[in-house]
Amino acid sequence: MRIDIISVVPDLIRSPFEHSILQRAKDKGLLEVHLHNLREYGINNYRQVDDYQYGGGAGMVLMVEPIDNCISALKAKRDYDEVIYTSPDGDLLDQSMANRLSLLNNIIVLCGHYKGVDERVRIHLITKEISIGNYVLSGGELAAAVIVDSIGRLIPGVLNNETSALEDSFQDQLIAPPVYTRPVEYKGWKVPDVLSSGHEAKIREWRMDESLKRTKERRPELFD
Ligand code: SAH
Repeated sequence: MRIDIISVVPDLIRSPFEHSILQRAKDKGLLEVHLHNLREYGINNYRQVDDYQYGGGAGMVLMVEPIDNCISALKAKRDYDEVIYTSPDGDLLDQSMANRLSLLNNIIVLCGHYKGVDERVRIHLITKEISIGNYVLSGGELAAAVIVDSIGRLIPGVLNNETSALEDSFQDQLIAPPVYTRPVEYKGWKVPDVLSSGHEAKIREWRMDESLKRTKERRPELFD
């Protein structure tokens, strides 16, 4: 899978793609992440990318022309399945959306900044808008990092053991059960006996019970 991210501050999110699972996905040749500085597509001598909004009001708006130039340059080289805009009023990112997106080949993620992007970008160039939650960020970069992380780890072959993604929260509409590691007792705080019992069937049953209990307590809506 190839993901092209367009941003006015690409350096803000270089690091999330250079560590841990996402770096491993890149090393295995399963994921490519390319960051594009919108400024390189800016207009006039100043490489301008933003301007005041029509009608007045505080805050700059990213202009349509540099974004169109950047997206067109990418589209000239390959086909894209989706051109995504990160937006607080977009579809809320959840695990099933991440699953669907992880099956695509090429996507573009456009990060807004300041007041956002000229509406004509959203009308004519964007195919999907995604929000990572009902709050406002300073820019779409952190949202893009969250989107790419949630997708990247689901690309088949990225995680060592495919079941480790399947057992994560939300993957089967259940919250994951609690996990423990050594020591078996710390300050009198004990690991549940069943987990060190070696009884595989009992452990499976305990985990399923805990998952159900947690889902009922914390995310009852998942049962619907
Ligand atoms: N004026 C806009 C917010 C602009 S915030 C409004 O009120 O809706 C600047 C940029 O950050 C946005 O263009 C968007 O790309 C990004 N952003 C902010 N919050 C976000 C969220 N919850 N999810 C995804 N992107 C977000």
